[in-house]
Amino acid sequence: MAFTLPELPYAMDALEPFISARTLEFHHGKHHQAYVNNVNNLIPGTPFEHATLEEIILKADGGIFNNGAQVFNHTFYFEQFSPFGCREPLGALKDALDRDFGSIAAFTDHFNKAAATLFGSGWAWLVVNIDGKLEIVQTSNAGCPLRDGKKPLLTCDVWEHAYYLDKQNLRPKYIEDFWKVLDWKVISLRFGA
Ligand code: MN
Repeated sequence: MAFTLPELPYAMDALEPFISARTLEFHHGKHHQAYVNNVNNLIPGTPFEHATLEEIILKADGGIFNNGAQVFNHTFYFEQFSPFGCREPLGALKDALDRDFGSIAAFTDHFNKAAATLFGSGWAWLVVNIDGKLEIVQTSNAGCPLRDGKKPLLTCDVWEHAYYLDKQNLRPKYIEDFWKVLDWKVISLRFGA
């Protein structure tokens, strides 16, 4: 069973002006597609030929891990946006953010710093750690918190390909606009799952 590229759950121009159609055409249509193609080309004849992405993330190394994790990470990233989404955390998730970071403002500040200061290519994540606490983590390149037994809730892709067409070198501007298209309903569903 080959992996396939999931369709975006919104139109290419739905996140404008914060994330442009041109960025999505390249980020989803070229980069995400390439990770799908690469992992499909790498797994035949290996122990991962029939593995799930989660099994690849937990056990693979090298190119199979890098491309498989990037398929998971990008699907997780694209699915959390909506043009009509809920723009603030609510309910049990808001309570947990207040509990573990002190306030939503403190959480946002901490997350923004994690995304802005990650050196090179990678991802900033909000996760539930093994103690059930919310935590912000950075991963380099294709890194995924599932590998460390943490449950991801939210992620910001800070590879330059995520923002360079729209923002050039201004990663902080991309992070600022990221919140304007994030749908906290999706994050709440992940938290409750
Ligand atoms: Mn990316």
